[in-house]
Amino acid sequence: MTKIETIDMAIIGGGPAGLTAALYGARARAKTVVFESGLPGGQIVTTDWVENYPGFPDGISGMELGDLMHRQAEKFGAEFRPFASIEKIEPHGMDFLLTNAEDERVLAHAVIVATGAVPKRLNVPGEAEFTGRGVSWCATCDGAFFRDKVVAVIGGGDAAVEEALFLTKFASEVHIVHRRDELRATKCIQEKCFANDKIKLELSRVVTEVIGDDGTVAGVRLASTKGEPEVVLPLEGIFIFVGVDPKSELVRDLCDLTDAGYIKIDHNGLTSYPGLYAAGDVTDSDLKQVVTAAARGASASFEALKWIDERLCSI
Ligand code: NAP
Repeated sequence: MTKIETIDMAIIGGGPAGLTAALYGARARAKTVVFESGLPGGQIVTTDWVENYPGFPDGISGMELGDLMHRQAEKFGAEFRPFASIEKIEPHGMDFLLTNAEDERVLAHAVIVATGAVPKRLNVPGEAEFTGRGVSWCATCDGAFFRDKVVAVIGGGDAAVEEALFLTKFASEVHIVHRRDELRATKCIQEKCFANDKIKLELSRVVTEVIGDDGTVAGVRLASTKGEPEVVLPLEGIFIFVGVDPKSELVRDLCDLTDAGYIKIDHNGLTSYPGLYAAGDVTDSDLKQVVTAAARGASASFEALKWIDERLCSI
């Protein structure tokens, strides 16, 4: 029979919450392994510029910040298993048995779930059909394809307005389509948006269809939330930022979730299941920022270390 590897702390997800948890775990000399289905960094690596993470007065690119956090955790001994998608977490005595897509198993004394969130879909006709052919959820990845073209950003929150600003580096016009009559983004982000001549606001409008021509996006059909006539906006790219859904499927049967699927945690990051912690955008914490994800990752790790120590000392 093959011996199952035993580790102290398994961290699922390599975004700011997971990377900070890994830093704290590894510095405490716990055997800490980060399992990440992609490359370390999480959602911030697709964020052009982060200007509200303390210590970087001029801002820092999301890619660089993710890389720095990864290097720092690795420097202290955290082990990274990129492209290692954990498919199952099962209680095993007081430990947890983790199984990946290749049916390989690891036994962990504590688990921190930092799986983050995925961008929501609009669920309108044409969205799925033209994904990758004009419809995108990543301005940093795809923005440069729209040099001197007209694009739309859907949504009115921080992500939509920040990414619209980024897209003005390439596009000739960026239309922000928002269902309410005012933006929801942080005021200082809104101020930059109002000062940018390339940005046009399409307020009180919702997308009802993505229109294509010859296999690529040619426009969007917009209905009014105020009874105005429907309009068709001709354009070549659509970037969707209408919020996120938590990636909590893995622990759905293990711990308590909110109705929207966020993992419920206490102020230390403990879920409703002993030894199982969570941090970052997958949790029900209010403020979803890089700085809070990092802080919650540190707290969860600190608590997980105490849990491991108490358990191992009592054996
Ligand atoms: P968000 O704050 O939830 O905003 C989503 C936006 O999409 C809202 O304006 C919402 O409209 C709209 N929306 C939702 N469903 C829609 C639909 N079906 N059709 C049309 N519009 C729809 O999401 P987010 O901007 O992705 O941000 C997620 C979290 O990350 C937030 O906590 C945010 O503060 C944080 N974040 C922070 C920064 C930063 O600090 N620099 C940057 C990016 C993200 P309503 O306004 O009508 O609800």
